Amino acid sequence: DEKKLKKYYIGSIDQGTTSTRFIIFDGVGHPVAQHQIEFTQHYPHSGWHEHDPKELITSVEQCIEKATQSFIDQGHDISDIKAVGITNQRETTIVWDTNTGEALHNAIAWPDTRTKSLANKLKAKDGADSLQNLCGLPISTYPSSVKLLWLLEHVEAVRKAYDEGRLTFGTVDTWLLYHLNGGKEKNILVTDATNASRTMFMDLYTLEYDDKLLDFFELDRNKLTLPKIVPSSSPDAFGALTSGLLKGVRIAGCLGDQSAALVGQQGFSPGSAKNTYGTGCFLLYNVGEKPVISKHGLLATVAYHFGGERKPIYALEGSIAVAGSGVKFLMDNLGFITHSHKISDLAATVEDNGGCVFVTAFSGLFAPYWIDDAKGTIFGITQFTERGHIARATLEATCFQTKAILDAMELDSGHKLAELAVDGGMSNSNLCMQVSSAGHLYNPCLEAYCQSSTQTQANLIGIPVDRPAMHETTALGAAIAAGFAVDIWKEFGELKEINQKGRVLFEPNMTKEESSKMFKKWGRAVEMCRGWVD
Ligand code: ADP
Repeated sequence: DEKKLKKYYIGSIDQGTTSTRFIIFDGVGHPVAQHQIEFTQHYPHSGWHEHDPKELITSVEQCIEKATQSFIDQGHDISDIKAVGITNQRETTIVWDTNTGEALHNAIAWPDTRTKSLANKLKAKDGADSLQNLCGLPISTYPSSVKLLWLLEHVEAVRKAYDEGRLTFGTVDTWLLYHLNGGKEKNILVTDATNASRTMFMDLYTLEYDDKLLDFFELDRNKLTLPKIVPSSSPDAFGALTSGLLKGVRIAGCLGDQSAALVGQQGFSPGSAKNTYGTGCFLLYNVGEKPVISKHGLLATVAYHFGGERKPIYALEGSIAVAGSGVKFLMDNLGFITHSHKISDLAATVEDNGGCVFVTAFSGLFAPYWIDDAKGTIFGITQFTERGHIARATLEATCFQTKAILDAMELDSGHKLAELAVDGGMSNSNLCMQVSSAGHLYNPCLEAYCQSSTQTQANLIGIPVDRPAMHETTALGAAIAAGFAVDIWKEFGELKEINQKGRVLFEPNMTKEESSKMFKKWGRAVEMCRGWVD
C-alpha cells in the first residue's frame, strides 16, 4: 500500500546526451530530490561529436552528491534508499586500457557521422545484408561497432592497445558501472541486453555476442575485452557504489535510455509505444517476446529484460537523430532564442510554417530513411520568411519523421497505433505536440484554444498524443528496473497508479487531406537533401 511503499526510495542515474541527472524516487514514483548538470559537447570537426569520458563520471558523481544532500536536508534517511538504477545515452562508444582503466580517446557520441565512408565500405562488404537479421540493426554511422572500427583505424593508442590485447570496449553504462563501482579493483565489466543490442555485436535471439557478427567487423575476441551481457534488472550483476554519500548502495537496474523511457511509460504490453523527444527522438513499439526484423527502415532492439523467469521483450524502434538538438541549434548557433522553452513562443508568432520545410539532417537522416550523406536543408525560403517560420519548421521536422516512422511501423507490425505516449524535453512544447498558445480554435479536450493551422504532432499522425505530468520517465524506468531487482515491486500491475494523474491528451484536429498534403511536401524535401557533397 501507498504508505508502506513510500518508505522506500530508489535513486536513478540518467546519463543523457546533453545532461546528467540523479533523481531519487519514492515507492510510488514521485521524484523527491534531484540534481542535473549539463556537460560539455565537443564538436572537433563538422559531423564529429564527442564527450569527455571522465566528465561523464564526475557529472554523475556530482549529481548523486547534490541530490542526496537535498534528500537528507528534507529529513529523509539514506538507509531508505534501497537501490540505484542507471540509464544512459546509447551507442556512444568508449575504449579504455584494460590495465589502467584510462580512456584512450574521447567518447564518440551516437549522433557523430565521421564514420560515413567507413559505413559505406562496410555496406558493400559480403554478408553486410544479413547482419540485420541477427542483430536487428543495419549498418549506418549510428551503432557502436562502426565507431569502434573508426577508433581502431585512426587512433594509434587504440590500435596498439588492441594489438597488445589490452583494449576494453564499452557503451556508457559499462564505462560508468566500471568506474562508479570500483574500477579495476572490482572489475565489474557488464552491460545490459538493451545497451548491448545497440552495438551490432549481440545476437538478438540468444542475447550473447556472436562470432559471425564480430568476424564481419574483423574483431578478435582475444584482443578485445567486451563486457558481459546481463539482464536489465539484477540484484548482484552491477555491483555497488564505492564512494560518496551512497557508498555501498547497490546498482540493481540498467537500461539504455529509450528502453528506460518505455519502461517508465509502462509500455509493458505488446502493441504499446512511446516517443521520447530528447536530443534525438526515439519511438519504441513493444512487439513482445519475439523480435520483429523490420522491412521498412526500423530497428529491432531489446526493449527490456527483467531476468529471472521473465523472457526478454523486444521492440521495433524508429530513431530520429535530431529533435531537441534542432531547438538547441536555433538557440546556440543562430541565436534565435535564449532558452529552449522559448521556441514555442517564437513559433507562435506566426500562423504556420509559411511554406518552409526544414530537414534537420545534421547527422544524416535516420529512420526510416537512413540517408548518411543528407545535410540539414531549409526549403521554401522567401522574403516573407521570418524566424518564427523556421522555428515552426524545426519542431515540425521531428513530427514529420515520427509520422514516417509510424507508417513504417504499421507496415512492419500490421497494427495501427491508437495513441502515442510521449515524453522528453521537446515534448514540453505544447505547440510541438499540438496547441498554439496564440491560437484561436477551442479544443475541448485541453480546455484551451489552439490554432487550426498547426501541423504539429497529433495532427500529422492523426491519433491522440498522451503526455504524462511527470516528465522524467527515462529516470523512472531505470528506477523501476532497480526496484524490481530488490523486490520493491514484483508485478508490473503494481505500478498501475504511477504517473497517471495529470496526463494531457492532445487530440488531432485536422483533415487527413490537409495533413497528407504537408507530409508529401516533407517527403519531397527529404529526397532533395540526398547526396550533398562535402
Ligand atoms: P537528453 O536526455 O537527450 O539530453 P532531454 O529529454 O533532457 O534530452 O531534452 C533536452 C532537449 O529538449 C534539448 O535539446 C532542449 O533543447 C529540448 N527542450 C527542452 N525543453 C524544451 C521545450 N520546452 N520546448 C522545446 N524543446 C525543449
